[in-house]
Parts: sequence; structure tokens; C-alpha cells
Amino acid sequence: MREQELLKKAEEASQYAYAPYSHFQVGAAVLCVDGSIYTGCNVENASYGLCMCAERVAIGKAVSEGKRRIDMIAIAGREEGGAFRASCSPCGACRQVIAEFSDENTRVITGNSDGEWKEWSVREMLPAAFEMEESNESL
Ligand SMILES: [Zn+2]
Repeated sequence: MREQELLKKAEEASQYAYAPYSHFQVGAAVLCVDGSIYTGCNVENASYGLCMCAERVAIGKAVSEGKRRIDMIAIAGREEGGAFRASCSPCGACRQVIAEFSDENTRVITGNSDGEWKEWSVREMLPAAFEMEESNESL
């Protein structure tokens, strides 16, 4: 799947964003290594700390269907009613969650389906991710 196709799915998912507080709509689309795709949107809450990011919603959907390896994840965001940004970088918490289900080939794409987008490897986005294996080795 091409990057812009996955970005389009992320844009489509953002239409379901529940964002009455930030008015910032985000969609994410996860392409798993088996070719399946799961999407998510941000889900906010009056208790702000309970807000869920689109990336983690999409990954949660994939994992709950038995998919644990991400080939590519696309993220698209915009102010309500506005155009999709050229980049919508994942927050630190989402980077850690993406890393959990990624390998050295996993790519993170942010932007829009009009051709403005950026691409990173997970290592580039989170160079020193917490990993259980590493922490066990240091014990
Ligand atoms: Zn996030």
C-alpha cells in the first residue's frame, strides 16, 4: 500500500473524532504486516487525562484482533473544519506504544493525502524506547 492511500484512510477516520474540547481531529490508520488495516480517531473526555489518541485507538483495535506487527502507521490531523496539516506528529506516549508493535522496518507517516507528508522509522521517532528485554539485561 502506498503512503498516500494509508493517509487517506487516516483522514477518513478523523471524521469520527470526538474532540469537543480541543477541536483538533486526528485519524490514524495502521497497516499490519499481513495487509490488514485498522483505523482510529481521537476520543476526548471531560476529564482531560482520559483522552485517547487516534494512534493508540487504532493500535488497540489491531491488537484486539490478534495483529501485533505494524508495517506502517499513517496519522492525519486538522483543526475542526480546516485542512489537514502537512504533519501531525505522534505524542510521546503514542511513540512508545507504536514501538511496542514495531520493528526496524516499520514506518510512521504523517501528513495528508494531497502529497504533503513526512516519514520516519520508529527508531528515528523514539531512539531510546523503553524495552523490557533491555531493562532485563541490565538487571
Ligand atoms: Zn498520542
